[in-house]
Amino acid sequence: MRTPAAVPDPRPFRVLLVEDDDTTGRRLESGLRGNGYAPTWSRTGADALAEAERAPYDALLLDLGLPDMDGLDVARRVRDRLPHLRIVVFTSREDGADVVAGREAGADDHLTKPFGLDALLSRLRVHLRPRYSAAPLSDPVRLGDLMIEVAARRCTLGDAEVPLPPEEFAVLVVLARHRDTAVTGQLLAARAREEDPSGTAAALDVTVASLRRRLADATRTAPHPVRLPRISTLRGHAYRLETDLP
Ligand code: CA
Repeated sequence: MRTPAAVPDPRPFRVLLVEDDDTTGRRLESGLRGNGYAPTWSRTGADALAEAERAPYDALLLDLGLPDMDGLDVARRVRDRLPHLRIVVFTSREDGADVVAGREAGADDHLTKPFGLDALLSRLRVHLRPRYSAAPLSDPVRLGDLMIEVAARRCTLGDAEVPLPPEEFAVLVVLARHRDTAVTGQLLAARAREEDPSGTAAALDVTVASLRRRLADATRTAPHPVRLPRISTLRGHAYRLETDLP
């Protein structure tokens, strides 16, 4: 019997956000979550240092102005212990001194406050992209009775192939990469285009609706009962592939 637990892990990137300002922290945390990242929010340097040791993170987003300690010390100590972690520091002025000090403390990049969520997401994409090429999505991906063969561009349910147009296959692959995580429509459309540049520019909701219909039809016509993940539509034009199979 196949179990979803046997599926190898294309997990979302884990991001440790260190920010003492409530408004900024809340905005960035929800923005990161809505774009497929798994953020943890620390409000102090001490908490951030403990958290960085506790769990494996891909990136540290660090405000340099913290209430309990100098952000540069946090960067330095994290860099010493975790040389592979990507560190982006938030500086308050573009005066150069903070930027240089941040780089010397081990930061890979900086953003000057105030900055928009898009600027942060684009930095993260740049810094975390190498992991995609170093460790591509496990292939094939099995989710219940649904199997996605990424390189072969084939989707099967039970033993039957489900023919999918390129743009629907790309959307399914991206949802599988970020499964059980809310993915905004904007991110899903962008990643699907990266996955398959030849896909049509059909509206995303139309593509998702058609993908759902094809999977539902394949489920109905399968010779045996099959289990497959569900694509949920969330408020705010986001989607989530639910792998908690019945
Ligand atoms: Ca601050």
